[in-house]
Amino acid sequence: MSELPTEIEVGDAYALRTFKAVDGRLTSIVKRGSHWEDGKCEAICLARPEDADHEVPSGDCTCGVYAFWTVEELLNQYLDFARRIVAVVRMDGLTIEGSNGVKANAAQIVAWWCAEDAPELVAACAASAPGTRRFFDRDVMIGLYPSPETRNSNG
Ligand SMILES: [Zn+2]
Repeated sequence: MSELPTEIEVGDAYALRTFKAVDGRLTSIVKRGSHWEDGKCEAICLARPEDADHEVPSGDCTCGVYAFWTVEELLNQYLDFARRIVAVVRMDGLTIEGSNGVKANAAQIVAWWCAEDAPELVAACAASAPGTRRFFDRDVMIGLYPSPETRNSNG
């Protein structure tokens, strides 16, 4: 890893998410009606849908696609889910960095890991993120898609 960029853009960065499976599809744990199609999610703001000037995400609004920089933060927030499924997403468009993660206008699943005893999650990943790579070792996957924060802490 000798060719890391010296300046890291948050946009286009890799981050981590977890999901639940509903009707055989990956679904957000916290947001009702979030839409992941072909592994992609484009955020829309439900709080201010009539405001054409409202940017998604915004610092003063909860809209956006959320993800975490580290698996420790993800497990800390959503242990029951993240111990069974972790997905690497590429954050796209406008992004705002928070204390332990990032929210973005859009995100795309690029890789995923599921626990061996979670066939319904494996099926949901295959259905909701076709063509993405399944990993059988979570930490190997995360190592291949380092977040900006992981890169920074590694020097
Ligand atoms: Zn909003």
